[in-house]
Amino acid sequence: MSESDDKCYISEMKKNVYIHTFGCQMNIHDSEKMLGILEQEGFTETGDPNDAELIIFNTCSIRQKAEQKFYSELGRIKAFKKKRPRVQIAVAGCIAQQEGKNILRKAPHVSFIFGPQNIHALKDFVSGKIVSTALEDNPEIEKTDLPAKRVDGVRAWVTIMYGCNNFCSFCIVPYTRGRERSRPTDKILAEVKELAARGYKEITLLGQNVNSYRSNSNFPELLKILNRVGGIERIRFVTSHPRDLSEELIAVMGDLPRVCEHIHLPLQSGSNKILRLMNRGYSFEEYIQKVSKLRNKIPNISITTDIIAGFPGETDDDHMLTIEALKKIEFDGIFAFKFSPRPGTKAGGMENQLSDGLKSMRLIQILELQDKITEHKNKLLEGTFQEILLEGESEADRKKLTGRTRTNKIVNIPWIEIKKGALISVEITKGRKHSLEGKLLVQDLKGAVDKKGKI
Ligand code: SAM
Ligand code: SF4
Repeated sequence: MSESDDKCYISEMKKNVYIHTFGCQMNIHDSEKMLGILEQEGFTETGDPNDAELIIFNTCSIRQKAEQKFYSELGRIKAFKKKRPRVQIAVAGCIAQQEGKNILRKAPHVSFIFGPQNIHALKDFVSGKIVSTALEDNPEIEKTDLPAKRVDGVRAWVTIMYGCNNFCSFCIVPYTRGRERSRPTDKILAEVKELAARGYKEITLLGQNVNSYRSNSNFPELLKILNRVGGIERIRFVTSHPRDLSEELIAVMGDLPRVCEHIHLPLQSGSNKILRLMNRGYSFEEYIQKVSKLRNKIPNISITTDIIAGFPGETDDDHMLTIEALKKIEFDGIFAFKFSPRPGTKAGGMENQLSDGLKSMRLIQILELQDKITEHKNKLLEGTFQEILLEGESEADRKKLTGRTRTNKIVNIPWIEIKKGALISVEITKGRKHSLEGKLLVQDLKGAVDKKGKI
C-alpha cells in the first residue's frame, strides 16, 4: 500500500479517529484540540480502535513509565496495522517532539509524527506530511484558536500559555514544549465567553506556570477579567509555581467569588538541599510562608501538591524532611512520583542515582502517610454543607452521581434524576480516603431542577 493510496482512502471513505491519550491534563486538552481540527476535516471520534481509519497516540514523556506504556502499545498495534494496512497511525505529544524521526526508524508502521506545537497543522498531516516537530518559536500556534472538541460538557480546559522557562533539573517539559509563550488576554476572554454561551459552568486555565502569565494582563488581572464572564460559576487553574505565587494573586483568589478555593502548588521535596539541586527557586521556609498566607486569606482553601521520591543524592534525612513537611502542611491531596531520570535533563545525568527499590520504598511511605492525612481531612468535612457541581454518573457505581466541591474534592451522592452541570448543595455524610459521600438537601434544589421540574 503506497502512501498516496492511504491518502485516497482517508479522503473518500467514512473517517473515524481514535485517540489514545497518555499523561496529563495538558495532553487531554491537546487531544480535544486534535479532535476539533479533525472534525472540521470530516472525521468522527470513535472509542474503538478497530473502527478507526486514523489512530493517534498522544504521548507523554514526563516519566519513563508513561514512555514505556506508549512503546508497548505501539508494538502491539504493529500486528493490527499488518491486518489493516490502510489504517494511519500517528504519534503526537512529547515523545513525538523528543524522538521525531527516530520513531519511524523504530516503528516503520507509523504514518506520521507531530509535536505539541504543530497540532494546528494536523489537517496537513492527515493528507501526507510525515514529521513536524519544529521547536523554534512557532507564531502559528499563538495566532490560531484551535477548535477544541471538548468532551466534558460542564467543565472546560482553556490553555493560557505554552511551554516553560524554568528548567527544573528533573523535568523534560522545557525541551518538549519549548519556551514560555502566553496567549493574548482577548483571545482567552473570547474563548471563555463562548464556553459560557455554550453552557459550561467551570473553566480550568492551563499552563505549566500560570503565575508567570504575561500578555496584555498579568495572571491576577486575567482572573479579574474572567471573573466577570456571566455563566461561568467556577474558575480553576493549574499549575502554580510556588516561587511565582504573588501576594497580588493570593489577594485576588480570596476576593473573586468565582475563583475556587483550591490551589495545586507543587512542593517536590521538603529538603532545601534537594530543592536547590532541583533548581526550584524557593526554600521550604519560603514555601510554608506562602501556604500560611494562602490559609490566612482563604481559611477553607484546599492545597494539593506534587512530590518526587528519590531524587539523585536524596539521603534518609532529606526524605525525612519531606515526611515532616507532609505532616506539617497537611495537604488535602498529593501526587507523588518516583524520580525518573529523563534523557537530556540535568538530574537525569547526575551520578548519585538511587536504586529503584529505595525510591519505591520512599514513595510508599509518602503515599501511606498522605492517605491518612487526606482521610483525616475528609472526615473533618462530615456534617458540613458543600456546593457541588454535578459531573454525571459515578463511573465506579452507576447508582451514584458524582460532583466536585469548590475545593476540588470528589463527592458521590445517591442517584437522582438531576441534570449534569447543576450546582447543588449537599451534606457530607462520610469522608473517605479518596472521596466524600454526600446527601442532597432537597430544600436547596433551586436551580438544580431542570426545565421539566425533574429533580
Ligand atoms: N509545571 C508544574 C510545576 O512545576 O509545578 C509541573 C508539571 S509536571 C508535568 C508535573 C509533575 O511531574 C511535577 O510537578 C513533578 O512532580 C513530576 N515530574 C516531572 N518530571 C519528573 C521526573 N523526571 N521524575 C518524577 N516526577 C517528575
Ligand atoms: Fe517542569 Fe519545572 Fe517547568 Fe514545571 S516549572 S514544567 S516542573 S520545568
